[in-house]
Order: sequence, then structure tokens, then C-alpha cells
Amino acid sequence: MLLVPAYSDMQPGEASTQSRLSRGITLNIPLVSAAMDTVTEARMAVAMARQGGIGILHRNLSIEEQATHVDLVKRSEAGMVTNPVTCTPDDTLADVERLCATYRISGVPVTDTDGRLVGIVTNRDMRFETDQSRPVREVMTPMPLVTAPVGVSSDGAFDLLRKNKIEKLPLVDSEGRLRGLITVKDFTKSEKYPLSTKDADGRLMVGAAIGVAGDAEERAKALIDAGVDVIIVDVAQGHSKGLADMIGKLKANSKVQVVGGNIATRAGAQMIVDAGADAVKVGVGPGSICTTRVVAGVGAPQITAIHQASLACAPAGVPVIGDGGLQYSGDIAKAIAAGADTVMLGSLLAGCEESPGLLIFINGKQFKSYRGMGSLGAVRNRERGGASFSKDRYGQAEVSSEEKYIPEGIEGQVPYRGPVSAVVHQLVGGLHQGMWYTGSRTIAELHEKGQLMPITAAGLKESHPHDIQMTVEAPNYHGR
Ligand code: 5GP
Repeated sequence: MLLVPAYSDMQPGEASTQSRLSRGITLNIPLVSAAMDTVTEARMAVAMARQGGIGILHRNLSIEEQATHVDLVKRSEAGMVTNPVTCTPDDTLADVERLCATYRISGVPVTDTDGRLVGIVTNRDMRFETDQSRPVREVMTPMPLVTAPVGVSSDGAFDLLRKNKIEKLPLVDSEGRLRGLITVKDFTKSEKYPLSTKDADGRLMVGAAIGVAGDAEERAKALIDAGVDVIIVDVAQGHSKGLADMIGKLKANSKVQVVGGNIATRAGAQMIVDAGADAVKVGVGPGSICTTRVVAGVGAPQITAIHQASLACAPAGVPVIGDGGLQYSGDIAKAIAAGADTVMLGSLLAGCEESPGLLIFINGKQFKSYRGMGSLGAVRNRERGGASFSKDRYGQAEVSSEEKYIPEGIEGQVPYRGPVSAVVHQLVGGLHQGMWYTGSRTIAELHEKGQLMPITAAGLKESHPHDIQMTVEAPNYHGR
């Protein structure tokens, strides 16, 4: 498929890529990182939200681990941290170091057993300390500290930080209990990441995946308690009673945004819309690591699937997430023209610095591993002592032995691509170009004006570079 060029009276930079992820969440860029264990944990989710997209934390984790990742994102950057990480005066400096490393922070408020602020301990207090077993009380800066009342305005807080040349401003209530924390880093970050996806409290937004079987409800509750903004009820066969029931329960018992998927037909999308979901995720078998279409013989070409789903979703005002199969930036514009509001990316992001896993060197080249969530490797989950939390995505929760498991995905590696910011820049840049060629200033206009033309194998060959040996790698083209 190709997008047909159309009359355009704009420049690429004038296009707005703002789009709806769900009924209640708008993103400045329509990109979502996939709920896969080689793509999205807290670090990727933070990077995606800073760029203006969002990350969906995978569920091949224990409930506690997944909720901790939500917590890490929610605390990462904020107008105000509502529930700051703290220590007690009796903790050791080693304890504080560990907290700082886990949460990537430079210091923590010190509170007593009643939650009253008694001091603050920061890098500066600890820098020249050699004895890590010393208690915090001996090195912290004790009260009185510069503090502000809960509800202080952003400008008021910034003034206090500036006038007092401090980096952290604890917020306390009338009884001196710690109620929040504002840091100078959060101000500089909002300047650095103007598009970032934030909730009403100024915290980065994050999503997380759950299933429909076993402890799914308990998992959802833990994620909601940790502050998750959107839950994706994520199963390979989403046109199912189990999915509709789970969406219904979540919508009845919480205010969290709920996405259902995956489906690949209009009827499937209609069922999810009728169940009350805030968005529908589309894709059966398009993923780069996916073998569903050959193992089960099931699926629908992704552009057709997105279009069909949009026929059910658009009239109901429910956004569509096109999940899987995107290989180049141009595919984003095509998915949107077909009816998607956002796209979910696996392989395009798995090679980023922020994805889980280490760099692999092969013949001097750098790679990162990437595997399907239905692959044997994900089910073995050696990284977590062999516990698989995601077999039920493929309807095989009860299968106990590896030999009996029917994989629907493969394991491999993708080239290392550097930081998310650089990759997203190219992807969004490509989308801007697509919008320019089609004369679309907004995502809504791309929905309306984007005309897709089927092409033949010869057309595809002509579309890619041909009759030349590539000698220099482009940042947005990695060959076929
Ligand atoms: P990609 O962006 O790599 O083309 O596709 C990513 C998407 O593939 C994911 O968001 C998810 O929906 C799907 N997916 C992930 N793992 C598997 C798998 O093992 N089997 C199948 N059928 N789909 C998968």
C-alpha cells in the first residue's frame, strides 16, 4: 500500500501529530511502546512519555514487579511528587544510596514514624562520607528547612527554590507531615521535554498490560493503586467473552482508562466498544516476531484490519491503536490513514538504549535482543526464574510443560539504535513528511484525506532503494 500524494498548502513542520490514545488520554505524538519484555519496562515508559508518547509495561513480571515499574514512572518526573520516597533518621547512608540508585534521584526527605519531616539528605550531604554505615541523622540537613504548604503554585515553588538556591522543596501540612516534594529538576525537565505526556498532577503517564485469566483482577488492582493511567487488557484472541467481561469489570469498578485487544475485524472491535472500552487495539499476526498466521493460520492484513476496526470505533468516538507490523516511519502515516489514532511499536523500539536487556556484540556490531511474548523464551522467562506470567495471552495458561506449549512467536535480535529520543525524532519526522505529502495538517485530516493505493510486488520493489549497493546507513532506513 502507498499513500497517494495530494494537494498541500503547508510545510511538514506545520503538521500537528496530536492524537487520542483513548477516550480520556491525548498524546502529542501517536506512538506507544509495546507491552513486551524486550521493549517496555519503566525506563522505556519514561522515555516514551517524555517524548510525548506513552509506554505500556509488559506483564511477564510478578504483580509486585509490574506495580513497582508503574511507581518508578509516576515518580520519575513531576510538577510535584505526591508520595515522595523517604528514609528515616535511623537508616544508613548505604540504604539511602540504594534508594537514590533505584529511583534515579539525588536525595530524599527524612521523616519520623509519624511521617513528620525531620530533615533532608542529599548527594551533597553524602559526597564526602566514607562510612556508609553511618545513620542518616548524623549527616542530614535537619529542620528547619525551607518548605512550602501543600497547594503552593508552580511559580511560588520555583521562586522559593531560586531565592534559597536549593534543589528540593518539601511540601508539608499544618502538622509538619510531609505531603509532597517539588524538585528543580522537574522544572528543567519540563523545559527540555515540552511535549511530554503528563497527568493532572504533572506526573508522566504510563500504561500497563494485564490478561483475563488467573490473577488478572488482582494485578489490575495493584496497578491502579500504584497510579497507572491506562490498563490494556491484552490477549491474542481479543474477540472473546473473557475480554469483554474484564473490560466491563474494570470500567464498573475504577476510573482508569481501559483498552481492549487484540482484534482484527469490525465485529471484534464492535464487541470491545460495546463492552465500554476507551480504545481498541488492533492486530492479529502482523508483528515482526509473530508466527500466529503460520502456526494457527489466522489473521488479517493489518491495514485492512485497522480499517475494519475503525468502522466500528469511529462512530462511537473510540480511538484505534494499530498494533504491530510497522517497519518504517511511513507505515505510521499509512496506519493512521487506514483509521488508526495511534500505533504500537515493538521491533522499532526494541533496539533502543532504554529497552530492557543488554547490548549484544556480534562481529563488532551492536544488537539488542527482541522476542515475541508468545515465544518459548518469553514463556521460559529465565530472567525471572522460569515463571511465566503471560502464557494466557495465547490461551495456554494451563499448559505446564515447555514441550506441550505451542509458541506463536520467535526470538531474535535487532540492531542497536541508540536513545529513544533519536529514534522517535526520525519516526515522527517521517510522519510529518507523510502529512505534508497528503496535505494533512492534523491526524483527523489524515484520517479523512489519506488515500491508500494497493501496489504490486513490482511497486514494492520500486518503492525501496534499488539497483544500488547501499554504502552508508541512513538513520531512518535499515534495508529490507
Ligand atoms: P512489531 O512492532 O515488532 O511488528 O510488533 C509488536 C506487536 O506484536 C506487539 O505489540 C504484540 O501485539 C505482538 N506480539 C508480541 N509478541 C508476539 C508473539 O509472540 N506472537 C504474536 N502473535 N504477536 C506478538
